[in-house]
Amino acid sequence: MSKQNRRSFLKTLGLGATAATAATYAPFAIGGSSKKVVVIGGGMGGAVAAKYIRMMDKSVEVTLIEANENYFTCFGSNEVLSGERTMDSIKFGYDGLKGHGVNVVIDKVIDIDASGRRVKTASGRSFNYDRCIVSPGVSFRYDKIDGYDESVANTKITHAWKAGPQTALLRDQIQSMRKGGTVIISAPPNPFRCPPGPYERTAQIAHYLKHNNPTAKILVLDDKEKFSKFGLFTAGWKKHYGYGTDNSMIEWVKGSAGGKIESVDVAGMTLSGEVDDYKGDVINIIPAQKAGHIAHVTGLTNDSGWCPIEGKTFESTIHKNIHVIGDSAIQSPLPKSGYAANSEGKVCAAAVVAMLNGDKIPDPSYVNTCYSVIAPGDGISVAMVYNYANGKINKVKGSGGLTPGKFDAKARAREQQNGYSWFDNITNDTFG
Ligand SMILES: Cc1cc2nc3c(=O)[nH]c(=O)nc-3n(C[C@H](O)[C@H](O)[C@H](O)COP(=O)(O)OP(=O)(O)OC[C@H]3O[C@@H](n4cnc5c(N)ncnc54)[C@H](O)[C@@H]3O)c2cc1C
Repeated sequence: MSKQNRRSFLKTLGLGATAATAATYAPFAIGGSSKKVVVIGGGMGGAVAAKYIRMMDKSVEVTLIEANENYFTCFGSNEVLSGERTMDSIKFGYDGLKGHGVNVVIDKVIDIDASGRRVKTASGRSFNYDRCIVSPGVSFRYDKIDGYDESVANTKITHAWKAGPQTALLRDQIQSMRKGGTVIISAPPNPFRCPPGPYERTAQIAHYLKHNNPTAKILVLDDKEKFSKFGLFTAGWKKHYGYGTDNSMIEWVKGSAGGKIESVDVAGMTLSGEVDDYKGDVINIIPAQKAGHIAHVTGLTNDSGWCPIEGKTFESTIHKNIHVIGDSAIQSPLPKSGYAANSEGKVCAAAVVAMLNGDKIPDPSYVNTCYSVIAPGDGISVAMVYNYANGKINKVKGSGGLTPGKFDAKARAREQQNGYSWFDNITNDTFG
């Protein structure tokens, strides 16, 4: 892409007119790239960053290292639990990225040598970089719940908070549950990936049970006192699943009322909190979260367990030349969502291209919308636009908003359709 085209491209991304001023690109080697970017993690942040760097500047050699051949989107995975979607409908591969000239490597990164600018993989390969982008998602604080660990999560009491085999296992457990059984969902403390996710999951499981096992119940044990889109979710639960009535399929227990869980007895299928013990037929524990494992190995995290970054470039404030995007980053007020990771991936791509070329870094803006489906034909959303000013990411006053509380069937059906269009658009933007 020529310098002029790259500037127009940045503008169309909403990345600001400053990109078009005072640019002096360092010449790069003819016949071989002198600009190397390694991206770790081919999920919502990493895949889009890799693709957009190549779209902005074909002279940059981009290598994407991803642990798995296929990626399953977490968004849409709650609908797999209700049978409204299949696992195949949330599965994506990396041929599209290869078509953009991204060198896709299926391997697991085991270390980043920040001073030597080198990434090492489990198969023994190493990759040099000028700039590295890290987007490994989240890992789980199993230590916060006695008796819970990864092997329990993979076999008996899932978290299903990374879509994949655990999603299918949880779906099968719900479908084969005894008549009149209880599903327990343990919802995590803040901050965590996808703030509305546990409550959409509750609604989707209730939708399945209403039609297939109507005397069954869902007990949501929450670490928190309130949650994202609280009014919209609880009204939706009431409308479709009787929440708050004697016939409710759903009971929600807040943290101070006994919702905080401390241990699990796997054989006895029982969760214990400060106040009570709870026995379930199917249990789904969504544990407290922290940055992806590789971020800890590399020392990119601070005491919070997440990665501090500079919000204009997403460069780590701990290690130079390494950028952290997506759920692993401390990106508040942006949420830990797929749409935010997509936005961060593009902002980071534009900054990295500018930095590699000695150009001025564009002033970014960021966007997020989270759709949730409470029942077929009933979608809700929350949206916000953000800018970068005074050295930080800010919410833009007056932007975004929430689905109106008053139920309007046409508008809710449209919200669901908007959510499905968003799914098609963002997955095409990321993997297409
Ligand atoms: C149930 C649920 C519903 C959700 N719904 C929505 C929604 O409706 N809208 C929305 O915007 N967001 C939603 N989200 C959140 C969204 O999925 C995440 O915020 C988003 O995926 C974060 O992107 P990421 O790039 O940080 O991580 P991920 O998308 O998880 O990608 C991380 C990638 O890194 C790879 N990786 C990790 N470590 C290594 C390593 N060492 N070497 C190589 N590869 C590695 C992983 O295999 C993975 O592919 C939902 C989440 C859940 C759990």
